[in-house]
Amino acid sequence: MSTVQLQSKLPNVGTTIFTVMSSLAVEHNAINLGQGFPDFPMSEELTNMVNSAMKDGFNQYIHMNGYMPLREAIAEKVDFLYGAQINPDTEITITPGGTYALYTAFATILQPGDEVIVFEPAYDCYIPQVELAGAKAVTVELVFPEYKIDWAAVRNKITEKTRAIVINSPHNPTGAVLSAQDIVELTAIVKDTQILIISDEVYEHLIFDGLPHESILKYPELLERAFVTFSFGKVYHCTGWKLGYCIAPGYLMKEFRKIHQFNAFTSDTPKQVALAGFLANRDAYLELGAFLQQKRDYFESLMKETRLKALPSHGSYFQSYSYAGISDETEMDFAVRLTKEYGVATIPVSAFYTKPVNNSVLRFCFAKKEATLNAAVERLVKL
Ligand code: PMP
Ligand code: GLN
Repeated sequence: MSTVQLQSKLPNVGTTIFTVMSSLAVEHNAINLGQGFPDFPMSEELTNMVNSAMKDGFNQYIHMNGYMPLREAIAEKVDFLYGAQINPDTEITITPGGTYALYTAFATILQPGDEVIVFEPAYDCYIPQVELAGAKAVTVELVFPEYKIDWAAVRNKITEKTRAIVINSPHNPTGAVLSAQDIVELTAIVKDTQILIISDEVYEHLIFDGLPHESILKYPELLERAFVTFSFGKVYHCTGWKLGYCIAPGYLMKEFRKIHQFNAFTSDTPKQVALAGFLANRDAYLELGAFLQQKRDYFESLMKETRLKALPSHGSYFQSYSYAGISDETEMDFAVRLTKEYGVATIPVSAFYTKPVNNSVLRFCFAKKEATLNAAVERLVKL
């Protein structure tokens, strides 16, 4: 044992639940409906374009803020989708994934002692990232089972130290989506304050039931104080690419880039070159919502044969199911037992809270081939 001591920067944090459950799935040969990633192939056209980019010599560092034609294609896309006028030179940075964009945004804006409002259940990187920046996460619970925002509760938690509010729509882990009324509430809360917004929109296209995606990019009054983060992994079925981007007004992006240049500095070149061309294919992203909605519905119809009860999901890769009435176990214990004894891995929603909660719900990823969903439900009917 070394005598050298290290004081942990994250003393209360273990290994992320996604790795815990995926490792358990491998160990027990379980079907993995836990960690969110598709098991169907991505576009062959896009992989061929990456191959061509490599053959064409796009293998060296690209501009630190990202390949300009890709930034231009993103600017065009967000104008088309959200009517946003974004300057690709000063307001878009390509990043090695959405997580990195979030980390950099928090690192950019937070000073020790600042507070950040985070809704729980919260995607698991937000709070550690806030804490690593020396700030404090102030949590507000989404109202179970619809996981709606209680805006009165948000108002109660705001202090003179509040520096930012984190929003995530469509929401991981619950599939809840923000409504136009939520945007009205948020706008009223931040008006005439120094509060910034971090908007995690990695599931922008994975939205169902005809609902519009209430992007912050649609609202200039909010965008002037926001970092909006995206991930190509979720759009093109390639979560392992770890490529995303951040959009923010120039005065914020300037500071973001100061940090980015000394961390990753830049992002994968050939994939950026390929995406710059592929973004022109609007159908590839416009069809995504219907494609994933069909998977949600297919899985839900199969799950009716089990004793698990669906909670509403209007977006993302995920839907929660309740096991109330089947077991009193904690969500973690039940998820572990389901993996070991029934061969299906899920994610306990309690893992996305800082305090102990037990709503008897597990998150299932339905972004899978029908054969995978069939095989999983064949196991779950035995519950
Ligand atoms: N935010 C949310 C809500 C996510 O689900 C994910 C997916 N992992 C990310 C951010 C990060 O995406 P990336 O893999 O591009 O870092
Ligand atoms: N976003 C994915 C999920 O929620 C996983 C990402 C990760 O493993 N960090 O399952």
